[in-house]
Amino acid sequence: MMTTTDGPTDSAQMPRGRVTSRERRGPHELTEPPIRGDHLMVAASVPGIDPCDVACEAMPAHVLGDLTPSDDHWLIDHTDDCRYCANELHRFHQTADVLDRCHDVCTTQMTPPSLPPQMRRYLAQYAQIDSPIGLLFVAASGAGLCEIDFAQDEAETILRRRLAARGFDPRPLPADEERPADRMVEDAATQLTEYFQGQRDHFDLPLDLSGVTPFTRSVLEATATVPFGRLDTYRSIAERIGKPRATRAVGNALGRNPIPVVVPCHRIVRSDASLGGYTGGLQIKQRLLALEGITLA
Ligand SMILES: [Zn+2]
Repeated sequence: MMTTTDGPTDSAQMPRGRVTSRERRGPHELTEPPIRGDHLMVAASVPGIDPCDVACEAMPAHVLGDLTPSDDHWLIDHTDDCRYCANELHRFHQTADVLDRCHDVCTTQMTPPSLPPQMRRYLAQYAQIDSPIGLLFVAASGAGLCEIDFAQDEAETILRRRLAARGFDPRPLPADEERPADRMVEDAATQLTEYFQGQRDHFDLPLDLSGVTPFTRSVLEATATVPFGRLDTYRSIAERIGKPRATRAVGNALGRNPIPVVVPCHRIVRSDASLGGYTGGLQIKQRLLALEGITLA
């Protein structure tokens, strides 16, 4: 089980000119021991874990050459099969290339390297709206509604961080407007108000799910088909996306639903009809279900 392979030491495996993090730190500084063995394969096989999360977290270490050969192999195998992670890894390599060029600039002449155009981010505009379940932040990109956050302490900071993590450039809509100026945010605000007033039982809004993993996307798409006033279970969502054993991973994915209320994760409960979890708190889950005529003990 335990192997004692060290991190890659053969510089021929590394892209030419790449400076490893160990070289950056210098040979005399204390460094954490390299991660040993099939760490990633083991981590990705834990029930309830999305392998794409494991892959993405390991990517910085991969581009720096800090992974063990077996972990490198696992990551490459995964990105061979997974277009989402292949794209993510491509972006990490682009970033590493830019950093390497910065390193070269520091040691040669002071001309900053240009960023590749692919690294441009998509604008996401957001506004705060009032609702019976409290203030909500609503964010939309040019492609659709991308985030709804329940207002809480530091809500705007959290919203901006979540949008940035999905590759968006977050911008508040002008505050001097009585209503949100952007059409997409305005449509979402109108439809949410109608829903909370009991005048709407479905949402007619384009959704932008970019920046979520393929697994999470499939969970969210299955959840979006559960109609108003109906319940479904984590297990049934897992079965519908063809991963019948991934009940816990479905729960975790819904816990990170970027567009609650509109993607109705509040309609998903445990198989014994107990509520399960809810990011905004179980009280909000109960209020949303009550609004749809459902009362659970
Ligand atoms: Zn993946």
